[in-house]
Amino acid sequence: MNCLFCKIIAGEIPSTKVYEDDRVLAFLDISPAAPVHVLVIPKEHITSAADITAENSSVIAHIFEVIAKIAKEKGIDGDGFRVVSNAGEHGGQTVHHLHFHILGGEKLSLRIC
Ligand code: 5GP
Ligand code: ZN
Repeated sequence: MNCLFCKIIAGEIPSTKVYEDDRVLAFLDISPAAPVHVLVIPKEHITSAADITAENSSVIAHIFEVIAKIAKEKGIDGDGFRVVSNAGEHGGQTVHHLHFHILGGEKLSLRIC
């Protein structure tokens, strides 16, 4: 499959990893929109939030556990942060593998990502 994030999971494209386990990978966004900008993705290819089903949704709960862990590690849990998942054309999704942006490290404007 010609999917950029599947290639990052496979190690075919390098990334700066923040967290990894058997189901989830987190890495720094190549073009950060905030001082802290991490992407968290399921290792299973799910195209977008529109494709979450009863069969694949357990990884989403795990992703949010990982998000809380990363927020603590990055020291942004206290001041707060934003989690964004763009879906489809109107959502502005550019990489069609489900991902959650963690954005923080400064007071974010209302329209970011
Ligand atoms: P989207 O626009 O689909 O919500 O988010 C895609 C994100 O992936 C963007 O923030 C973009 O900067 C990031 N991105 C695109 N290509 C790469 C890459 O090769 N490596 C990394 N680390 N991030 C990427
Ligand atoms: Zn993929």
